[in-house]
Amino acid sequence: MSDKKIETICVQGGYTPKNGEPRQIPIYQSTTFKYDTSEDMGKLFDLEASGYFYTRLQNPTNDLVAKKLAELEGGSAAMLTSSGQAANFFAVFNVANAGDHVVASSTIYGGTFNLFAVTMKKMGIDFTFVSGDATEEELDAAFKPNTKALFGETIANPACSVLDLELFAKVAHKHGVPFIVDNTFATPINCRPIEWGADIVTHSTTKYIDGHGASVGGAIIDAGKFDWMKYKDKFPGLTEPDESYHGIVYAEKFGKEGAFITKATAQLMRDFGSIQSPQNAFYINLGLESLHVRMKRHCENGQKVAEFLNNHKKVEWVRYCGLKTDKYYKLGQKYLPNGSCGVLSFSLKGTREDAEKFMKNLKVAAIETHVADARTCCLHPASTTHRQLTDEQLKNAGISPTLIRYSCGIENAEDLIEDLKQALETI
Ligand SMILES: *Cc1c(COP(=O)(O)O)cnc(C)c1O
Repeated sequence: MSDKKIETICVQGGYTPKNGEPRQIPIYQSTTFKYDTSEDMGKLFDLEASGYFYTRLQNPTNDLVAKKLAELEGGSAAMLTSSGQAANFFAVFNVANAGDHVVASSTIYGGTFNLFAVTMKKMGIDFTFVSGDATEEELDAAFKPNTKALFGETIANPACSVLDLELFAKVAHKHGVPFIVDNTFATPINCRPIEWGADIVTHSTTKYIDGHGASVGGAIIDAGKFDWMKYKDKFPGLTEPDESYHGIVYAEKFGKEGAFITKATAQLMRDFGSIQSPQNAFYINLGLESLHVRMKRHCENGQKVAEFLNNHKKVEWVRYCGLKTDKYYKLGQKYLPNGSCGVLSFSLKGTREDAEKFMKNLKVAAIETHVADARTCCLHPASTTHRQLTDEQLKNAGISPTLIRYSCGIENAEDLIEDLKQALETI
């Protein structure tokens, strides 16, 4: 299927039924799997044969969907996780242990920032945060002898900035570490980071991939290109025997193409158990079947709404890389030539109270913490997620008191614009 166009992979990737088999992927709603002999099952425990024995580690429905995602991103292997948070945790923890260090862009999703800066720090992993706009010299300066990965988001949530993927990949490889990219907002329809040098791609499938606000989930895709054995001392987890699997060396037994995902499944999924339910994997697959159609509309609506707001006298500024005046327009044209996504942010002229009033008067767009959904949704951080902060504190956190994050759904753009227009007239 990998030789087919992306739209065809969205619809038919991952699963090709044989004669008389179900057309849609079957949901293997089973915790466990039956074997004729203990010897047969023993081979699975030794990673000598591939197969299923317990859904905490692997499930056939999940693997069909993971295979489609690997094909879409152009990777060699993939796995589903219970959430985007679990995907980013696993992706980093698979290469970094206590005592190690990771460099990450500071313009990333708040949940990921907290995972890295607070929770993983408690686990003994040290992070240095760099600007998403960092130069090569600034990136170089953040690396240490114990650095094990470089992390960033293709399009940052909620900053709507675009990462210079090629530069970040170049610097990661110069320092002998994998470049991990969270590609949630762009989706493989609009950007495939592996083509720009990324080694590991992660997703919160909760967003555009599911697309209907129905199921929380995540995914990790390995490009299969990072040569772990070349940096044998740096990645002992992949290059030295795993005593919990009878001394298997992942990078030797599964090669560049399979080592990362096999280790993450065999160790992290086994021990943390952040597996996605097969039912949710089925929903994600339904989402993937129309992802290419939906992304096009999300981007068209994003562009029209961004242009409308950008020309409105009550709007101070708009952040959307499809606008020619946007700081990230050039990077957007390079990495996202067919469009970025439906999420934009803007700031109103006026006060925090004006923004609250504006939000109250929206009728088509719904107030939600969610983004990247078929239904248009929006959020005013100053009166919700950041309501405890004063205007002064908000400004220090880089958030304007009248900032609104607006996620264009796939409705008719004229209705979205009419809705915004009447709400703007009330302030
Ligand atoms: C939402 C989000 C996450 C976290 O995903 P969950 O599925 O909510 O756990 C991670 N990264 C980005 C870019 C996101 O938007």
